[in-house]
Amino acid sequence: MNAALDERDAGLSDEALALLRGVAAFARDEVAPLAAAGCGAQPWAGGLIRQACRLGHAGIEIPVEQGGLGLPYRMRARAAEVLAATDFAFAFAFINQHNVALRIAEHGSDAARKRYLPGLLAGDLIGGTAMSEPRAGSDFAAIATRARRRDGGGWILDGEKAWVANAAGGELALVFAQTEPARGSAGIACFIVDLRAPQCERVAGEPLEGLGAA
Ligand SMILES: Cc1cc2nc3c(=O)[nH]c(=O)nc-3n(C[C@H](O)[C@H](O)[C@H](O)COP(=O)(O)OP(=O)(O)OC[C@H]3O[C@@H](n4cnc5c(N)ncnc54)[C@H](O)[C@@H]3O)c2cc1C
Repeated sequence: MNAALDERDAGLSDEALALLRGVAAFARDEVAPLAAAGCGAQPWAGGLIRQACRLGHAGIEIPVEQGGLGLPYRMRARAAEVLAATDFAFAFAFINQHNVALRIAEHGSDAARKRYLPGLLAGDLIGGTAMSEPRAGSDFAAIATRARRRDGGGWILDGEKAWVANAAGGELALVFAQTEPARGSAGIACFIVDLRAPQCERVAGEPLEGLGAA
């Protein structure tokens, strides 16, 4: 039997409590030293994200039949809260990883699930979500990144994204791009992009105080 971390966790299943206690131990033993590096001195926390994945923490909401824990949203929120109490930037980066896996689990094709989910859950692949652009943030429908069908199959993406958590060293990004400008927001689609492709260029953004880990 696992003891609750606080009164909000009363009534949780043993599995959910075990997850929270595992996350809390990971935060204390592994994330806290990173947080001690201080504002502006943290490197991107890719190594720690991979470690957390190997402990099973990236699959919180992923269905059991797809390799995850099948727990509800509330548990992702609690895990994020526990991590953020030690280091907000790490929590932010790690939840981005979880959410890439979840989006592929929920909306990806069978081929995409088979190709990317095991790696994301095991920490062999780290991902982020690329929605924002230098000139489109809140007004998401204004994104200018274009996706055009390529002769012979597939798509070619052309554009610039900004602020993408985990893009500093991750392998994948869920990139939102406009397929039909005349349709406005209805023309926007999401593509899984391998950031290791030679056509992808990563440029360091402005350093953010206390957010280096993301
Ligand atoms: C730490 C951090 C991490 C991020 N990570 C990611 C990521 O992983 N992936 C990603 O895609 N993006 C990410 N973002 C980008 C984030 O989603 C955008 O910053 C956000 O959408 C706002 O866009 P903007 O910065 O261009 O501001 P703008 O859209 O230019 O907004 C500037 C200000 O105007 C206000 N404003 C805008 N429109 C209106 C309106 N219609 N009415 C009233 N007020 C308005 C906004 O509230 C804001 O205060 C991240 C941002 C930060 C700061």
